[in-house]
Amino acid sequence: MIPYGRQYIDDDDIDVVCKALRSDWLTCGPLVTEFESAVAAYVGANHAIALCNGTAALHSIMFAIGIGPGDEVIVPPITFAATANAVVYQGGTPVFADVCEDTLLMDPADLEARVSSRTKAVVAVDYAGHPCDYTAIREVCDRHGLVFVADSCHAIGASFKNKNVGSIADISAFSFHPVKHITTGEGGMITTNDEHYAQRARTFRHHGISTDFRQREKEVSFQYDIPELGYNYRITDIQCALGLSQLKKLDAGIARRNDIADKYNDAFAKIAGLTPLSVAENVRHAYHLYVVRLTGETRISRDELFVHLRNKGIGVNVHYPPVHLFTYYKKNFEYGRGMCPVAEKAFEDIISLPMYPQLNDEDLQYTIDTFIAALK
Ligand SMILES: *Cc1c(COP(=O)(O)O)cnc(C)c1O
Repeated sequence: MIPYGRQYIDDDDIDVVCKALRSDWLTCGPLVTEFESAVAAYVGANHAIALCNGTAALHSIMFAIGIGPGDEVIVPPITFAATANAVVYQGGTPVFADVCEDTLLMDPADLEARVSSRTKAVVAVDYAGHPCDYTAIREVCDRHGLVFVADSCHAIGASFKNKNVGSIADISAFSFHPVKHITTGEGGMITTNDEHYAQRARTFRHHGISTDFRQREKEVSFQYDIPELGYNYRITDIQCALGLSQLKKLDAGIARRNDIADKYNDAFAKIAGLTPLSVAENVRHAYHLYVVRLTGETRISRDELFVHLRNKGIGVNVHYPPVHLFTYYKKNFEYGRGMCPVAEKAFEDIISLPMYPQLNDEDLQYTIDTFIAALK
């Protein structure tokens, strides 16, 4: 089976992980700080906080920006559920704003229509690796005094108007799950220029403990306080060793992903019945996913196409079922069909094709040929 996404681990990655295992520090050590500094430098942010996964990053962001019961946070429905779940973890209410037809990114006009007196923040998602409309969303946030959070779990290495994702929103989240661009097995990162948010996220990652153990060591003190509740969301030095090594390969991986996308686009340009998602002029797309949309002119339905391609050994997938239609959200927030019609319709038509740097030209051509043949 050709998967839809896959990690790339080489001998250098394995060597640095072994070295970390032989070092004095398995967790809370220098490689965590080094990985944070490397990601901060890469995206161009003042602060980076590494965590055990991307979901923990989003949860810590909700704490850092002060989300609590009664607060509304506006999120898109076409995303992994963690975007909205993180709001619920802090007792907040996720409110769904619809997406744009051609990109499936949050629609800034619909976002503005959903703002209420309770709205505190927006989480925009750089869906598939395409940056959200940072300019338009920033304007809405500024008009209504909202915190602009970016769920950039699909988009490390992407840029918008020559600014790197991770440095544009008020605070951003990344994931290092194996299907993402670079991996630490499980892992995540927060980036921000806001010192206060950064400090709160660090505290939250470590049980809410107010002082660092190194600081206590220096002061020859065992005293610490827990002013607010936190979690254990730490990442290990073993994982950060892998992350540092993976980061070196990120740009080459994104270049190959763009190359694969160009080949898909060229092959599909003259085929009736499908359209790839649109790409804006002013972005560097990170292509976590390559998504095409059936336009209703094909005899085969999306569901039939999915089964057909899986049976042909092509690991297609569907990203994502609209989050507001999950049973949990329908039951607890009384959400349902009709709330985000553009997203609901798109979900019936989209399919994600294999996209990862090690996808070779032969498997890519086989995927293209099999896909086109299935539409006829
Ligand atoms: C992967 C992902 C997450 C969660 O990241 P984990 O590391 O799996 O916890 C959150 N949001 C989006 C959009 C993602 O793709």
